[in-house]
Amino acid sequence: MPRLLLIEDDLTIRTPLVRALRDRGHAVAAASTAMDGLRDALDNRPDLVVLDLGLPDLDGRELLRMLRAVSAVPVIVATARDDETEIVRVLDAGADDYVVKPFTAAQLDARIRAVLRRGAAGAGAGDPALVVGGLRVDPRARQVTLDGVAVELTPREFDLLHHLAARPGEVVTKRELLTEVWQIPYGGADKTVDVHLSWLRRKLGENAQQPRYLHTVRGVGVRLESPGGAG
Ligand code: CA
Repeated sequence: MPRLLLIEDDLTIRTPLVRALRDRGHAVAAASTAMDGLRDALDNRPDLVVLDLGLPDLDGRELLRMLRAVSAVPVIVATARDDETEIVRVLDAGADDYVVKPFTAAQLDARIRAVLRRGAAGAGAGDPALVVGGLRVDPRARQVTLDGVAVELTPREFDLLHHLAARPGEVVTKRELLTEVWQIPYGGADKTVDVHLSWLRRKLGENAQQPRYLHTVRGVGVRLESPGGAG
């Protein structure tokens, strides 16, 4: 049974949501402040966190950043603002998905299951590890190593890298990445791809000016290739 942590200060949202998610087969813990939520996330290691952005003690985005610094747990953000800037900002801060208030338990549950499915996608599959130069992407263990050293990635960064590593040397368009990795239509959050690519670059120890594996093809997309050439 997936273990969820719901961080939400509003009792009129939290109580019915906890009940509805339990009815839908999740084990749910709840916290009403950012600090309690952070503590719970570290102590109890939930499978997924649902995070309200408007918390009394700390901005939810700030909490998301703190959480991301220490954990790769998938996070779905609940935001009251339905605008692209806000959504891009929370995705940039490391959220895996978002729901806009008011949302139904059914809607949130669908998002939760999709995020957990993505996280588990490699676990049961027989996909072999992909090797591109010194980079090894293992979809079963969802682990990445670079020159033998483990690279910590969020679930989304992993999916992005895996998608690219499966097509070494090919230019992959942002449109394809948005539909295949994010499963959202092009035009909604194009900047999201750039932001995640820049994080991925940082974690791989490179930057856009001096790329090793990730090469931006201006106006088209991105290509992953071995610094040594072929494959
Ligand atoms: Ca709130």
